[in-house]
Amino acid sequence: MKRATVLVMAFGCLAQMASAQTPQAQAPKVDTPESLAHIKKAKDAGGAMWAKEENFLCEDPTARNTPKAPDPGPVKLFDNLYAIPGTYGPGNAVVYLIQTSQGLMMIDSGRAEDVDTIVLPGMKTLGLDPMNIKLIILPHGHGDHIAGSPWFQEHVPGVRVYMTAADWDFILKPGRGGGPAPATLPKHDRDIVEGQPIVLGDESITPVNIPAHTPGSIALIFPVKDGGRNHVVGYFGGGFFASGNAELDRQFVQSIKHFKEATGKMHADIELMPHPVMDNFGQRLAAFRARKPGDPNPFIVGEVNFGKFLDVMAECTEASLARK
Ligand SMILES: [Zn+2]
Repeated sequence: MKRATVLVMAFGCLAQMASAQTPQAQAPKVDTPESLAHIKKAKDAGGAMWAKEENFLCEDPTARNTPKAPDPGPVKLFDNLYAIPGTYGPGNAVVYLIQTSQGLMMIDSGRAEDVDTIVLPGMKTLGLDPMNIKLIILPHGHGDHIAGSPWFQEHVPGVRVYMTAADWDFILKPGRGGGPAPATLPKHDRDIVEGQPIVLGDESITPVNIPAHTPGSIALIFPVKDGGRNHVVGYFGGGFFASGNAELDRQFVQSIKHFKEATGKMHADIELMPHPVMDNFGQRLAAFRARKPGDPNPFIVGEVNFGKFLDVMAECTEASLARK
């Protein structure tokens, strides 16, 4: 048990982040006029709303050691969307659930050790039946997103688990940051393919390829309702950085631009992510819980601000590339 846990941790987003930072610690890169220009663009795009994101991504690598958040408890964010944040942080993700007319869709399965302690109790609190989960979408193949899913494959009859073919391959590769013991891996089930919506009942999720963080990372665009009104979530499922490798960083920028184009076409106005450590998730959640009837939902940021969130991400990656 202990061995599996360590391996899964070594496989997760946090471990990759640590390894990406090691070379930087040995030979710190310095800003250049070009990198400073990108940081300025990020600050200008981010403004007050995304200042924390700009600092986290552009300026303060130590912010990536952000400790786990205190568990804010499970929450119904929209008429048909639930979040189980747990002690979310750079190394563990928020699990989302969408209620459809034909059962539940789960986005991200969290870590194996969170199933019994966070995800199942959270679902119980929210009044959701795990046996009603019809499909699970794994945004990318790191252990902190996939390792909870084998429990559902084993216990929920008929559940379908979706990941891109690239990341179904990726999780089997030996030496990929130290893979988890095979027993913790989900069994290869359905492939996510860009251009093929993932549909359950009255809900349809549009997947968008965003390779870089892993070869098969995926972003999702899907409608939700707030007080009966239609809104659209943009969910960037590919971490918040590539790897520190210049080629992957360039690919990461292209992936962000690709997602921005897709979310622009579909009018995404809600920003959600697996590790919401830089997007004011905690403050939004506190404001959400304090809101009075008729107050706006603080998770609805609007289309323009959604685009700016992605601009900050792209500019900070460019800044990293331009440092010498
Ligand atoms: Zn990751």
